[in-house]
Amino acid sequence: MSETTSGSVRWWVRRGADFAPVAFFRRRESGGDIVDERYAGDGWMPDTRGAVDRAERFALDSDLDEISAVDARRVLDMIAARTYTPLLMAGDAVPIPAPPADPVPWEQQGCAVCRAQWERGDRPPLIAEDVPDHSSVHRCSSCGTLWLLTERYATAVTADEVRPVYGDRLDD
Ligand SMILES: [Zn+2]
Repeated sequence: MSETTSGSVRWWVRRGADFAPVAFFRRRESGGDIVDERYAGDGWMPDTRGAVDRAERFALDSDLDEISAVDARRVLDMIAARTYTPLLMAGDAVPIPAPPADPVPWEQQGCAVCRAQWERGDRPPLIAEDVPDHSSVHRCSSCGTLWLLTERYATAVTADEVRPVYGDRLDD
């Protein structure tokens, strides 16, 4: 098996529920022919089920996502490390993690100022809002605690916990 490819190569992944790649495909040219392949085990095998062909012709109906060469490199690195991490793309609806099963008691979240604001039906200043997620992030101007407000509850969070949804919108 040769990893040498000439000309342009196009790449696709199928991702699981956690957005990590579960299957990896490519289309390359070889001697004027188009060759579609799927990564299996430790090498490239013919894409005998025509997954790449369907993804190329019916992109919207396909469960494969075409990715850039840079992302393909990341997937190859994941394969080499046998560690698969989420490959996020524009348009992904990333769920905010559920609150911990053993939540921090209300009296230990934030400070008296922000807790009182929530208790009054007031809110600490808005930092960012995510309409698709039906949530918003607020920051207490007294203690600096970040709060995530969902349709059901407000809870103190760390920036890392909400970064999957809010990204750099949390940065001042
Ligand atoms: Zn506070």
